[in-house]
Amino acid sequence: MKQVPLGETGLMVSEVGFGGIPITRITVDEGVALVRAALDKGITYFDTARMYGDSEVKMGRALEGRRDQVVVATKTMKRSAEEMTQEIEASLEALRTTWIDLYQIHNLAKPEDLQTVLAPGGAYEALTKAQAQGKVKHIGFSSHHPDTAIQAIETGRFATVQFACNFVEDQAAGKVFAAAKARGMACIAMKPLGGGLLERADLCFAWLQAQEGVLPIPGMQSTSELNEIAGLYEQRRELNQADLDEMQRIRDELGTRFCHRCGYCMPCPNGINIPKVMLFTSQSRRFPPQHLIKASKDFILHAEENCEDCGECSERCPYELPIPEMLGEITAAFRDFMAQHGQA
Ligand code: SF4
Ligand code: SF4
Repeated sequence: MKQVPLGETGLMVSEVGFGGIPITRITVDEGVALVRAALDKGITYFDTARMYGDSEVKMGRALEGRRDQVVVATKTMKRSAEEMTQEIEASLEALRTTWIDLYQIHNLAKPEDLQTVLAPGGAYEALTKAQAQGKVKHIGFSSHHPDTAIQAIETGRFATVQFACNFVEDQAAGKVFAAAKARGMACIAMKPLGGGLLERADLCFAWLQAQEGVLPIPGMQSTSELNEIAGLYEQRRELNQADLDEMQRIRDELGTRFCHRCGYCMPCPNGINIPKVMLFTSQSRRFPPQHLIKASKDFILHAEENCEDCGECSERCPYELPIPEMLGEITAAFRDFMAQHGQA
């Protein structure tokens, strides 16, 4: 696996990293084995977060004894210095290490969020203190909001930015990463597969390989996923015209309003499982109709009956999706789908 610089941090990392959310869905032993297998494949950048369940714990166990071979990045949603200090200590313990290479402010959303973090008594203060103590080497942030991300970049106080980037979501990421590169920051691409929505991993990674200075961090939960991704980096290929046409077809099909299944809109006060309902559109093209109707009917009709258009979910969605409107469209499409398949 090729090693590349992580911006101007002085760190070298594999050209594809390991995203730490999916290992929360497997057992501790499986998670530990998978992280070690990734390391054996040459992956040296491992991303996790305080809010990813036991992801830090699994990585800590897996990396013990090999800590100096890897770059470990974690993050927290906490915004005050006091809470950040506690989170750093908790991460160090869970990760079984005495230093964290990159500590990120997780999901900088609104400009006020950035102000809070940078104000006296804010999380950034604790990070610089930990940096002086050698517990944290570099400070970065993640965001889903281009305007806030660009404001954070322009402060000149962060070494890295993590932002969703794939061939469908390239416009916002393009602007954010251009601003970051102008300041020598590392650009870390989360959701390289569109949060699981983009099935052509070959196209996703061929496109990302062509984006200079961008480090993708796909989440993995099995050795087959790991092998597939590592294989795409071993046998890299250029995109041809047929690939470009297929990518455009996928962009057109998904449009701009697609759900990334991040779950930030949850919980709904009326118990609607929004990301699950949002999945119906893509599933309707792939799954056997009778099976899909049986599996989806209860929660889609629950959404139809219980959404009161309160808007709480849309306020929390980092992609600013008009969720109640989309739920209405999806439930109507579901009723049409049932009618087409004899279940009106
Ligand atoms: S708008 Fe509908 S789906 Fe969203 S939080 Fe309110 S009730 Fe739930
Ligand atoms: S509706 Fe928005 S917040 Fe909810 S899962 Fe989809 S992208 Fe995430």
